[in-house]
Amino acid sequence: MRKPFVAGNWKMNKLAGQAKILVEEMLPGLQSVPAVESVLCPPFLSLMLVSELVANTGIGVGAQNLFWETSGAYTGEVSPEMVREFCDYVILGHSERRAYFGETDQTLNKRVLAALKVGLTPIVCVGETLSENEAGLTADVIHRQVVEGLANLTAEQGEKLVVAYEPVWAIGTGRAASGPVANTVLADIIRPTLADLFGDEVAQGIRILYGGSVTSANAAEFFGQPEIDGALVGGASLKPADFVAIVQAAAQTI
Ligand code: PEP
Repeated sequence: MRKPFVAGNWKMNKLAGQAKILVEEMLPGLQSVPAVESVLCPPFLSLMLVSELVANTGIGVGAQNLFWETSGAYTGEVSPEMVREFCDYVILGHSERRAYFGETDQTLNKRVLAALKVGLTPIVCVGETLSENEAGLTADVIHRQVVEGLANLTAEQGEKLVVAYEPVWAIGTGRAASGPVANTVLADIIRPTLADLFGDEVAQGIRILYGGSVTSANAAEFFGQPEIDGALVGGASLKPADFVAIVQAAAQTI
C-alpha cells in the first residue's frame, strides 16, 4: 500500500512574512489529514522559517532544487547538505528548470544521486512538451527521462524516490491531462521503466504523482486512477482552502 502523497510547489512566490501566513492558514487543515503525506515546498529563503512552523506537525518541507556539489566556489548555489538542514524532500528536474535554466537528464541524475546521499527524498519530475506530445513522442521522452535521470541508482536508492509525471503542456495552463490519460502514462511507461531499473517489487512501492493544473475541482479524478498516488500541485498550493481540499481528496480517493 503506497501512502498518498501531495506536495505543494510554491515556485517563486511568497515573501517570508507571506509564507508564514500561508502556512498558518493551511496547517490545521493539513494536520487533520494524517493519512496523506503532505509536503510544502517554498522558495529557499523561507525553508528555515517554514520548517520551524511545521516542526512536529507531521507536515513535510521540501526545497525546489539543489546543486550536487558539497561546498565550494559555486556562487549562488545551494548544496544538498544545506537543503537537508531544513528539509526531508527536494523537487528535482522540474520542467521550468529544464526549460529556463538548461537542466538536462544528466544534471538531474547528479542532483538525484546527491540528494539521496544526504538522505533527502527526491521528487523527480518528468513530462513531455506539447510538441513532443503532438508528435507522438510521449513514451520515448518519458522513458528517456526516467532512464537517464535515474541512472546509476541502486534498487535500495530507487525505493526512496517519489516520481511526478508532469506533462509540460498542463503545468500552469489550466489545461490538465485527463485522469485516464495520465494513468496510462504511469501504467504503460513510468512504472514499467522503474521496474526495468529497480525490479518489480521496488517499482510497485514507488509513489508516482500527477502534476499539471491540479485543482480542488479535478483532484478526485486523478486520485481515482489506480496508478496515481498523489499530486504535485503548483498554483492551487498557494490557496489554503484549495490545497487542503486536494489533500482531503487524496485521503478519500486514493
Ligand atoms: C508545478 O508547479 O509543478 C505544477 C504542476 O503547477 P500547476 O499546478 O500550477 O500546473
